[in-house]
Amino acid sequence: MKIHFWGAAQTVTGSAHYLEVNGKILLLDCGLFQGRRADTYRINSEFRFNPAKVDGVVLSHAHIDHIGNLPNFIKQGYRGRVHTHAATAHLAEVMLADSGRIQEYDAQFVNKRRARRGEPPVEPLYTEEDAVATVPFFEHQALNKPFSPIPGVQVTLVEAGHILGSTALKIEIEEKRKTHTLWFSGDIGRVNLPLIHDPVLPSGDVDTMLMECTYGDRSHESPDVARAELARLLRRTLERDGKVLIPAFAVGRTQELVYAIHRLMDSSDLPNVPVFVDSPLAVSVTDIFKKHPDCFDEEARAMMSDDQHRSALGFDSLTYIRSVEESKALNERTDPMIIIAASGMMENGRILHHLRNNIHDANSTVLIVSWMAPHTLGRRLTDGDPKVNIFGEEFDVAIDVQRVRGYSAHGDREALRDYALAVRSTLQNVYLVHGEQEGADGLTEALTNWGMDAARIHYPARGDTIEL
Ligand SMILES: [Zn+2]
Repeated sequence: MKIHFWGAAQTVTGSAHYLEVNGKILLLDCGLFQGRRADTYRINSEFRFNPAKVDGVVLSHAHIDHIGNLPNFIKQGYRGRVHTHAATAHLAEVMLADSGRIQEYDAQFVNKRRARRGEPPVEPLYTEEDAVATVPFFEHQALNKPFSPIPGVQVTLVEAGHILGSTALKIEIEEKRKTHTLWFSGDIGRVNLPLIHDPVLPSGDVDTMLMECTYGDRSHESPDVARAELARLLRRTLERDGKVLIPAFAVGRTQELVYAIHRLMDSSDLPNVPVFVDSPLAVSVTDIFKKHPDCFDEEARAMMSDDQHRSALGFDSLTYIRSVEESKALNERTDPMIIIAASGMMENGRILHHLRNNIHDANSTVLIVSWMAPHTLGRRLTDGDPKVNIFGEEFDVAIDVQRVRGYSAHGDREALRDYALAVRSTLQNVYLVHGEQEGADGLTEALTNWGMDAARIHYPARGDTIEL
């Protein structure tokens, strides 16, 4: 059998690897590569293999860098099944449609510029319609129950504790009387993340591991420290009658914040001010969370079964906003409030309107709770730039910018090390994916400090192939 590394190889985004077993091809993840616009279109539109010749797809979880190229893959001829956890399939439906709209919008933007230069228009990578067309391909699989996507291969989905529905894949392979157990980690979550279950460590006779190394070079603050810091910064702004704006990704972080704020208000650690989740995608995603109570941990389920709080993700002072009118109505209000809106890195979405409306108010706060990529507005604010551009207009930054560290849905260096070491007695080779060089170096060092032979730890490049 062969493993081909195709995406998220020596980088974080675009997760995609494929196996060749018994003359058939199985694709693991079909993620969107994210980066500078000029590169992304080319990288995402080309596949090394003909999608029509691929026999099966398994997806680890619903983040766009793991599923976001699927509509394009199907547009280019894939006709097999797409196996994944039911929650991932439901999330993928709304995430891919949203991504299709963004692709169309991006193409329009690029084409305006091309038209001015007399160049022919480009097609969007895929459209919302292409995204909708992926839905019938999904096949829901349960946790811990093996299924066979291609002959000679048994896959078992194992809880990854990263976002709702996230899984690692245990892949048992039989070819020409040789057997292998390959473990694909997907994204490895954290112990004690709110709402969702903890990650389950690898087990069984795993000889080969493909694992992420995003934070292989650092240790995280505990979620309790992050929650205390969140409470302190929220209180400070609300007590001076300011608004708190929190840019957040629609999946995971938004629900995590809603849950944390709900608990802080319940325990009177926060005044009972209005809270708004102003993002149509986040509203859809939250509805999907509510449909999968089996994915919640005990604490969240206990809170939901409490008579007073039928939902961990809804409470009296919380309003979910879909309509533009309701979103705009918030501008007229001057009372203290908390607004959670996308996009997470402040590159687009409604958070920009709220920022523009409050950027002159030193009593209000932008609360940064996520990692911000270089060159994004979120990063410029985090770095303390005194002036920023919003919708092409320059503004002085008077609003308070504060950062809460410790929010991350990825395991840190120690968690990743323990993950691999859980199967050290049988593990032959580890292939580090989904990470930059520093992450890979950090994790390699941690593993070798614990006795793993450095020669068995690899950091494959895009296009590399190994044979087992
Ligand atoms: Zn992820």
